[in-house]
Amino acid sequence: MESAATRLAGVEDNIARMCRVARRDRDEVTLIAVSKTHPPEAIVPLLETGQRVFGENRVQEAQGKWPALREAYPDIELHLIGQLQSNKAEDAVELFDVIHSLDRLSLLKALAKAMDKTGKRVPCFIQVNIGDEEQKGGCPIREVPHFITEVRDADIPVEGLMCLPPAGIEPAPFFALLHKLAEDNGLGGLSMGMSGDYETAVQLGATHVRVGTALFGPRS
Ligand SMILES: *Cc1c(COP(=O)(O)O)cnc(C)c1O
Repeated sequence: MESAATRLAGVEDNIARMCRVARRDRDEVTLIAVSKTHPPEAIVPLLETGQRVFGENRVQEAQGKWPALREAYPDIELHLIGQLQSNKAEDAVELFDVIHSLDRLSLLKALAKAMDKTGKRVPCFIQVNIGDEEQKGGCPIREVPHFITEVRDADIPVEGLMCLPPAGIEPAPFFALLHKLAEDNGLGGLSMGMSGDYETAVQLGATHVRVGTALFGPRS
């Protein structure tokens, strides 16, 4: 099996190449290493090669793993990329530096309350249901402008838009649509692209790619 350092170098090469192709600065793209399900022993080798930005999708799992890692590597930046239940909002605000899954009014209210209570304003991406899929989380496209206003009115910093395109079909049109939606609403951040499609996402303007399998290998 390839080492974590080798896999990270490969992903970094691909991101750098796609930035050149799209005439973008490499600095415009943040690589989030998605470490969900992987134990600290798998994470430390990436920390040792200098990776500092990580993503988790469950609050409870992250609470078990990251406080200790943060003591050893204080400059870690932790992103919550998965669905968030309102009753976990305060825990999420305490632990995470960025939240990518703000998608509904009830969660907005819970996050605003948690941020007021803790005095910590956590930048959030608004997750958009970009493929209009019934079973998926995310704010409906037509409600995005109004939701952005509501988030701002609650004094939550809006970082940009996030999406998970429908599985099994070409993601590029959905990335392009999210980019347009962000532009139309004056937002600069675009969280899109995973192991299978982060290169496409970088070409289409992603500012944050969320890559797990390509860095850590398959999840069991
Ligand atoms: C797991 C996950 C990823 C990473 O997926 P890979 O295909 O392993 O790169 C990205 N985004 C979200 C929201 C995820 O849950």
